[in-house]
Amino acid sequence: TAHKETHGFQTEVKQLLQLMIHSLYSNKEIFLRELVSNAADASDKLRFKALSDDSLYENDGELRVRLSVDKDAGTVTISDNGIGMTRDDVIEHLGTIAKSGTAEFFSKLSGDQARDSQLIGQFGVGFYSAFIVADKVTVRTRAAGQEADRGVEWQSEGEGNFTVADIDKPERGTDVILHLKEDEKEFLDDWRLRSIIGKYSDHISVAVQMYKEEVPERDGPDGEKIAAEPAHWETINKATALWTRDKSEVSDEEYKEFYKHISHDYGDPLLWSHNKVEGKTEYTSLLYVPAKAPFDMWNREQKHGLKLYVQRVFIMDDAEQFMPTYLRFVKGVLDSNDLPLNVSREILQDNRISQAMRQGCTKKVLQMLERMAKNQPEQYQSFWQEFGNVLKEGPAEDFSNKEKVAGLLRFASTEDDSSEEKVSLDDYIERMKEGQDKIYYITADSYAAAKTSPHLEIFRKKGIEVLLMSERIDEWLMSHLTDYKEKSFQSITKGDLDLGELEDEESKKAQEQAEKDVEGLTERVKKALGDKVKDVKLSHRLIDSPACVVADDQGMSTQMVKLMQAAGQ
Ligand code: ADP
Ligand code: MG
Repeated sequence: TAHKETHGFQTEVKQLLQLMIHSLYSNKEIFLRELVSNAADASDKLRFKALSDDSLYENDGELRVRLSVDKDAGTVTISDNGIGMTRDDVIEHLGTIAKSGTAEFFSKLSGDQARDSQLIGQFGVGFYSAFIVADKVTVRTRAAGQEADRGVEWQSEGEGNFTVADIDKPERGTDVILHLKEDEKEFLDDWRLRSIIGKYSDHISVAVQMYKEEVPERDGPDGEKIAAEPAHWETINKATALWTRDKSEVSDEEYKEFYKHISHDYGDPLLWSHNKVEGKTEYTSLLYVPAKAPFDMWNREQKHGLKLYVQRVFIMDDAEQFMPTYLRFVKGVLDSNDLPLNVSREILQDNRISQAMRQGCTKKVLQMLERMAKNQPEQYQSFWQEFGNVLKEGPAEDFSNKEKVAGLLRFASTEDDSSEEKVSLDDYIERMKEGQDKIYYITADSYAAAKTSPHLEIFRKKGIEVLLMSERIDEWLMSHLTDYKEKSFQSITKGDLDLGELEDEESKKAQEQAEKDVEGLTERVKKALGDKVKDVKLSHRLIDSPACVVADDQGMSTQMVKLMQAAGQ
């Protein structure tokens, strides 16, 4: 080895290593999933790059991942002939964490083991999980298309630093060699490894192989001779991309495993939908809704989108063109038959095919949510808690699906005493009073403020339900939602409140009388307040409170004014 250097890990890597070794102790075997997953990604990347440069295959286009064990040395090796890494790649990828949301992840760590291990599961540990079972890891790699002497050896004991050195490596790709800890020798067992691979790797499209020793010639049950089997590399996974298989042949377990592979999430997904679309545009989609929101969902730079394949060839991660922003939590795979293999993000931007796929995928997700809302309301509620505020961006963003998204919204309401958002607009409409033609709502800074607003008094008295909105985004939402199922929305804090047919004759007379009684008073109040107010009016909405502030019908509501002020406008 030559040109050997020692580098320190980025602080975050050191922290992650510490945390991981302590918190993932009960789920050690995931290291194999991570490393095989990386090897499969490396094959995908090579296949993609070779589309435009065949020579990268170096006359070896049969991509595979191999697992081998050296019992004497106490090592397990995961070896691929994928894209490989250059010296710079190695230093960057195996010395730092380049994921979006890393800062947030570390800022959320609490020191509480149970909570942190949940979070770490969500974050994903990737390559560094090797140190759960190994006290030393050696990576030998050579990038596709480079000379044999451009190999690199990386080595670390998972503490503060790692070394990199130049080596000769004739075979393209990456070997990850795990020097197992004294008490992790169980992973030297052939059957143990096979069963883990079976569990984690069936859906991976590249072959995962293990070495099978020679089987000598032997006697069959009827005394016949069974020929000897020479030693060979045996493919132990199905090695077909999961989404290309028939729905009926894929088990829930496999769908869940595949989700973990593509999402880097350790938890199970909430639901998924697998579709082959034929006709004008042909594609397969496999879309997942996670159970938990990523901690960086509100980070503008958060990477999101689907994994894009064209005719089973991996093209890119995080293709965000296929999902509207309000569905950015959806994970999945899209495999197009129509897009060109050399498609770029720019081409996807305004392309007829990608637009058709985006529409189709959006529809699928909304459908799947609708179904869950209807058939598994409790599960839907847990979805809403995680993603409700994102979905509220829908009506503003997606005009054509406005009504569908509106049907998926949930609100707190005067109907019960809970701040939890669980009333749908359909629930509301079903409970509307005879003669009521509007959906009444109030927006406020907090649930408590909404619930105790004097504006509600008249509604409580008349037994009319009002939706109580107190999330920051609600005002924005309502400025884009004017009606639902032909019922218009009416803020109860805006302008003259016309209760229409809900008003009875008797109270109308009483109101006229009251108006006469206070003549002059409104004028005097208006004078006293000067230009602090636009107008002072007699109101019939208040029961217990003497006065309240309302916004002009055309103007911004008080809540919106506060929002704009907060935004520095
Ligand atoms: P992730 O897979 O989420 O990117 P990892 O920690 O698993 O994160 O891997 C970090 C990076 O190291 C990968 O993105 C890739 O660039 C590189 N890498 C890891 N394993 C391999 C491999 N077998 N072949 C080529 N590159 C690899
Ligand atoms: Mg990985």
